[in-house]
Amino acid sequence: MNEAVVAADVRKQYGETVALDGVDLSVADGEVFGLIGPNGAGKTTLVRALTGTTAVDGEVSIHGETPTGIDADRIGLLPQSFAPPARLTARELVDYYGGLYDSARDTDDILATVGLEDDADSWYETLSGGQQRRVCVGIALVNDPDVLFLDEPTTGIDPAGRRSLWSVLEGLAEGGTTIFLTSHSMAEVERLADRVGLLQDGRLVAVGSPAELIDSHGGGSRLVIETDDSSAAADALAAEGFEATAEPTTVVIAGVSPVDIGDAVAALSAADVAYESLTWTEPSLEDVYLQLTGETFEGAATPGGSVVAEQTAGDASATQAGTASQDSAGSQDSTAPQDGTAQEGAR
Ligand code: ADP
Repeated sequence: MNEAVVAADVRKQYGETVALDGVDLSVADGEVFGLIGPNGAGKTTLVRALTGTTAVDGEVSIHGETPTGIDADRIGLLPQSFAPPARLTARELVDYYGGLYDSARDTDDILATVGLEDDADSWYETLSGGQQRRVCVGIALVNDPDVLFLDEPTTGIDPAGRRSLWSVLEGLAEGGTTIFLTSHSMAEVERLADRVGLLQDGRLVAVGSPAELIDSHGGGSRLVIETDDSSAAADALAAEGFEATAEPTTVVIAGVSPVDIGDAVAALSAADVAYESLTWTEPSLEDVYLQLTGETFEGAATPGGSVVAEQTAGDASATQAGTASQDSAGSQDSTAPQDGTAQEGAR
């Protein structure tokens, strides 16, 4: 493996605060590596360590050289809080930052790469949040870096802007740029990253492809039933052999396969338990994150799925994925659902 980024036993302490506590990682040439972790986990400090903007103990190398020793042209960095002068146009900004390097990429070429040809002559301050961030990515590309570090590139951007930035980053990755990004969006790293590292309390506690991490730490699929009568629902489901856990307003059945949804609906119906909705979810990176960090978030019982059936006043009808329905006479019908779709969760 040709390694673009290597960190070995990297440590950083600010006074009493241990920001990095012995981080080992390597990122292959051309790979997209996503770093996730709670606030304060050390993500920004690690990006700073890898780009030579803070001194650390341990070893860091970029294409075999130290981050401060390597030719500056080979590293691109978009810091989390980067804010360029607002009364310059996208073109002027890319030009200006390009001028800081002996040789810079062509401005029009960069504007095209980040999809800003049409807005090139608008002031930065008049651009949408997504367009502004694309300008910032463009600025990070002026030196045509081999390795691009992006610290929370899409934080604060609306979903459309975020998706268009993802396309830009996918284009860069396809072109062979090694990308190291930090993010709070599980959907983002799941979509973009070849491998993901979870940093917690300055330690890398899990590394792997999204699929590997979900497989090892995501838990099984779940059926979440929203009901005001969760204990009766849990009893009815338990009587049919389901392992149901009652929460105040939901019942969660772990490890349930789509073909069993009809039986769960039948059990509820037979016990005359009303429910608001049924949601079947497959584990996602969000579940990995919650499992490994021990964090919870509002609505954690239904982080990533599609609502498969809703019931009002004793009459359930199939909704979005159309997996289960119950007519007013109480008969059930179920078919295999579409996959639960991963969604970004609010954190
Ligand atoms: P993250 O990016 O994951 O939110 P950071 O790398 O910013 O985490 O911070 C890791 C820890 O180091 C936090 O406890 C933070 O308060 C501390 N820290 C970061 N930068 C400094 C600094 N310049 N001075 C003192 N403490 C810092």
